[in-house]
Amino acid sequence: MQINHDFGVSPEIYLERGKNNDFPHFSSCPVCKIKKKLYRHGFYYRYGIQEENCLTRLVFCRYICQNPACKMTFSVIPSFIVPRFQFLLDSILSLLKRKLDGERFSDGIRQRANFYFKRFISDAHQNWLLQFFRQEGTSETVPEDKTKKARKLLKMIQDFGESTFLRKSTDSFSNYFMAPSLYQIKKIHST
Ligand SMILES: [Zn+2]
Repeated sequence: MQINHDFGVSPEIYLERGKNNDFPHFSSCPVCKIKKKLYRHGFYYRYGIQEENCLTRLVFCRYICQNPACKMTFSVIPSFIVPRFQFLLDSILSLLKRKLDGERFSDGIRQRANFYFKRFISDAHQNWLLQFFRQEGTSETVPEDKTKKARKLLKMIQDFGESTFLRKSTDSFSNYFMAPSLYQIKKIHST
């Protein structure tokens, strides 16, 4: 299970600190609710991809519940990482913006930019984003035109604060930013 956590530092600082980041303490288990602190359970690494195919090795801390009947393990994921994607959020947002601005990408990056874009502009994903912003009390209207709508939503994410958006939207819904399920729902409906 993943726990999203705001380390209060930039992705660069998080990377630089590695295992020396200020990892959080948990006084109870989010699953079985037992009031015993979660044990630190080592580290693991994953590669994240930053813009222009730059590979970054990210360290994540694991925790385990002390309750023998539960023993659930948790990974603490910094809030700037898109859950399950492990790409850096600002890279995705910047790719989407460049795509909307009509930039022509080099071969290495085009496929990924198209992949994100397709997912971002799907009706299911856009509706999910709108639902999130409405729950957050935003009454702004969005244009009907798909491209203009995408541009507006992107701006709303940026105005909201990227990390805050990621943390809040992941906590509030079973779906999350750029979730494949949101894209698949659209695919099923459109065939
Ligand atoms: Zn537990």
